[in-house]
Amino acid sequence: MTAQVEETKTFNDLGLGEQMLAALSDVGYTHPTPIQREFIPIAVTGADCTGQAQTGTGKTAAFVIPILERINHRLPGVQALVLCPTRELSEQVAAEARRLAAQHDCNPVLLVGGRPIRRQLTELESNPTIVVGTPGRVIDHLQRGSLDLRGLKVLVLDEADRMLDIGFRPDIERILRRCPNERQTLLLSATMPPPVERLAKRYMQDPQRVDLSQANVAADRVEQFYCTVDPDRKLNLLVRLLLQERPTQAIVFCRTKRGADRLHQRLSKKLKGVDAIHGDLQQRVRDNVMRRFRSGKTRLLIATDVVGRGIDVTSISHIINYDVPEYSDDYVHRIGRTGRISSDKSGRAFTFITTEEGAELTRIEMRVNQLLSEYKVDGFDAYEPRAPRPHVDDEQPHETEEVAEFHVA
Ligand code: AMP
Repeated sequence: MTAQVEETKTFNDLGLGEQMLAALSDVGYTHPTPIQREFIPIAVTGADCTGQAQTGTGKTAAFVIPILERINHRLPGVQALVLCPTRELSEQVAAEARRLAAQHDCNPVLLVGGRPIRRQLTELESNPTIVVGTPGRVIDHLQRGSLDLRGLKVLVLDEADRMLDIGFRPDIERILRRCPNERQTLLLSATMPPPVERLAKRYMQDPQRVDLSQANVAADRVEQFYCTVDPDRKLNLLVRLLLQERPTQAIVFCRTKRGADRLHQRLSKKLKGVDAIHGDLQQRVRDNVMRRFRSGKTRLLIATDVVGRGIDVTSISHIINYDVPEYSDDYVHRIGRTGRISSDKSGRAFTFITTEEGAELTRIEMRVNQLLSEYKVDGFDAYEPRAPRPHVDDEQPHETEEVAEFHVA
């Protein structure tokens, strides 16, 4: 994804130093992206700030630039620590910091698991000012005494929601306790579910908020519907909905990995071009699933929130929330997978709501600040009376001939 560049303001308007402007010009950044435009002026003052933005929006430079502006490049010792959920992301952050710090003698050290510790120990001896890493390996170095955070000025929690999803909360808290109280904390996250909010409340001082999640923008471009349905008839509804809507490509969101697997099993008996993706699958399998989806071979992708949220494929015409999302931020995220800025088509999103889930629907409507329209599938009774029908498997759709048409459309 390419970052969306704001045309009106330039980096000159953000009050940055000469060296920083020279470095930005060297890497070819002339105009700040929306998250940079909002986040940088707050962060360079030293204030705590949370930024809601996805990868691809220029969020890395949004916190790297303030770090480079705020640390004293003449003093040795770690002044900025960036915690990331994965090795790959840590590498990307370190690379961006290296590029933007070219005017300074500053070489960020990468502390990630799965890499030899010896080399990291040697690099730490060179007194780096910036350290980037994953929580586990950072703790390891703190315990060995090879990493000293007493002089820390800026702590960044990048992709905080993913770090918490992975279970890094205890590690993050241990690291936070080793940081000086007089520090600046910056938190970047694609979504702001309650666990991230709690982390911000506990460890940040009166943080200012910048919310430029792409999905919020996308939400206005997506037609949103809900379908009421008996839990036992969800699969039938899904099949009927697909026949009626005939999506170019669709993502069907489930709440759990098991739920996604079960739906995949059932649906692939009925339809071709169905795949599933979730966090329990090996990376290699996930890569293959994504390749098939991007190429259009897979028309229907069943996904969980953690994995589904990063999917950026322009031909997605429909999002189907087979299970209502646990947090309304996830809803915004899910529907943001369609109606992309880069595609001129607007998308359609459908949320299945059972009788017990009325309150969830209201929460979603409050979050997106609009009422969803009820959608009815022609001739489909969402609440077929469940009089004794011992020989009928309620989970299996009956319209096999029609179903076969779906992938020909
Ligand atoms: P990120 O969201 O940090 O992963 O950045 C996404 C991509 O946008 C990266 O390839 C950056 O190099 C690029 N980028 C970040 N800021 C700018 C900018 N102001 N102008 C042009 N490209 C940018």
